[in-house]
Amino acid sequence: MRIALLGPPGSGKGTQAQRICEAFDLVHLASGDILRAEKASGSPLGNQIRDFIDNGLLVPDDLMVELMRQKILDLKKGFVLDGFPRTLPQAQTLNRMLFEADRPLMLVLNFVVNPKALSRRFEGRRVCPVCLSVYHIDSLPPQNPGICDLDGAKLIIREDDRPEVVQKRIATYQETMAPLIAYYAQLGNFKTVDTSSSIDDVTHAVLEKIRRHFEDE
Ligand code: AMP
Repeated sequence: MRIALLGPPGSGKGTQAQRICEAFDLVHLASGDILRAEKASGSPLGNQIRDFIDNGLLVPDDLMVELMRQKILDLKKGFVLDGFPRTLPQAQTLNRMLFEADRPLMLVLNFVVNPKALSRRFEGRRVCPVCLSVYHIDSLPPQNPGICDLDGAKLIIREDDRPEVVQKRIATYQETMAPLIAYYAQLGNFKTVDTSSSIDDVTHAVLEKIRRHFEDE
């Protein structure tokens, strides 16, 4: 299976991508995690992308494609793309690249979420700076408050989850996604899921959509 997830920040792409990968034995490739790791590494590319990420702006397409291309082409098994592509040029480049590798996307899932649910999610989101696991103080709390279950690191609020940056990220998403959604809708293998409900309910709906899609193939 080769799947891409579209959806605004906070729509649950990361959490659901992990669950999809567990259910179907796929690799999770999250562009935001890859960018944050690059930024933290202090590499020249990391320094180039720092200001974009910290201000909720999109990293330019050429840098983004450079960063993702090899990671995607190196994958030996099925995958879930989370956060990439995010613009029409990224989608077109990805399409060409996967077509040439004879591994086209098989399903694009578009996550939609109501604005009230969206703001609640950001307020409570916490992440582990070491293993990048994501928690939520209400809906997905760690066993010990403020501590990562997997490695015991102290959980943090992501720099770009600050309210003013979140507003910017959502506005950026809305501007850039309309042409992308139209592009995928016209290509086919495109489905929309409402991800406003609880994490488990959304997982159920998402896994059902995926199963049905692949049964119908
Ligand atoms: P995310 O964790 O997916 O919300 O991504 C965090 C930040 O990384 C975004 O606000 C952007 O600055 C950057 N980013 C992630 N994916 C992309 C992409 N496909 N294109 C451009 N910028 C991206």
